Amino acid sequence: PLVLGIETSCDETGVGLVSGGVLLGDALASSMEEHARFGGVVPEVAARAHLEAMAPMVRTALQRAQVDLADVTAVAVTAGPGLSPALQVGLAAGKAYALAAGVPLYAVHHLAGHAAVDVLDHGPLPERCVALIVSGGHTSLLSVGDLARDEIVHLGDTVDDAAGEAFDKVARLIGLPYPGGPAIDRAARDGDPHAIAFPRPLTGPSDPPWTFSFSGLKTAVARWVEAHDGTVPVPDVAASFQEAVADTLARKAVAACADQGADILLMVGGVAANSRVRALMEQRCAAAGLTLRVPPIRLCTDNGAMIAALGDLLVRADVEPDPLDVAADPRARLTGALLHGTRALP
Ligand code: ATP
Ligand code: MG
Ligand code: FE
Repeated sequence: PLVLGIETSCDETGVGLVSGGVLLGDALASSMEEHARFGGVVPEVAARAHLEAMAPMVRTALQRAQVDLADVTAVAVTAGPGLSPALQVGLAAGKAYALAAGVPLYAVHHLAGHAAVDVLDHGPLPERCVALIVSGGHTSLLSVGDLARDEIVHLGDTVDDAAGEAFDKVARLIGLPYPGGPAIDRAARDGDPHAIAFPRPLTGPSDPPWTFSFSGLKTAVARWVEAHDGTVPVPDVAASFQEAVADTLARKAVAACADQGADILLMVGGVAANSRVRALMEQRCAAAGLTLRVPPIRLCTDNGAMIAALGDLLVRADVEPDPLDVAADPRARLTGALLHGTRALP
């Protein structure tokens, strides 16, 4: 198969071409700078940017992969979750390319794409593993089997902010630019991670073990900043906050693996790009005898390769494609690779 993947759930216009678990080429445009002055993504602005970038990104990805549209055998497109106007543009484009090329369409779940991208660098996913999805809108611990067969069990999610959202909000509090994750990662390099003892939310013995909460941590940072008005050591606050997030994620993920009897942890999503989160998770997994799988940094945040990788899994699993009138769902819960559930497996 040769799968064209299209991603437009937020502010990245991503296109990828994957064949048999191999990334042949991809292209990425971002409208991030247009949103920076608003401090967050403006859905209608993102949608317009997707519309402008779509055809050029598809052309660029095809060129890089050295293939033609006529060589494509299936199209996979993110149909949710995400910003509705942004999703509509990508889904319409995916339908148009599938129709033009006369090939099947797969309307896939964005978070399953975050997980599937790991196959590109580390080979097929294991029969079962624990997955930690840490992104801008989600923080979840899952038991994951075959994505193409909807083998997903939610162990726990965040009850308030996602980890990435906490990075973005804390960055704003200490005067760092949007998006906050990469800015905090950079600032923290010059800071002391033990300078300030921020809380590790829901890690007590009587707390729900797989549930996350990051709004209290954000408030703790806000209070600390208020109390030290005018003399805030940005690198120390960034490093100490980052350490609290990394420690919280690592404790829960490692414990979940033990609970599930899993020996592989898959960590994916934008926050998996964080240098301290990666290093601490690697260290804790090694100490617990676990193998950590995490995609390369550039494939952790939104991109087209992840959607193509997921489509490629579906094609190879002989999953029935979606009809061309398939709808987007901005709030779709993760149940498997396809947004609307997998059907008719042989
Ligand atoms: P979702 O995938 O939940 O729908 P999203 O697509 O907006 O949300 P991603 O693209 O997976 O999220 O990730 C973006 C988030 O990752 C942002 O919150 C951003 O701040 C965070 N992020 C990116 N790089 C880093 C980093 N180096 N350190 C910490 N956070 C990071
Ligand atoms: Mg983004
Ligand atoms: Fe994402």
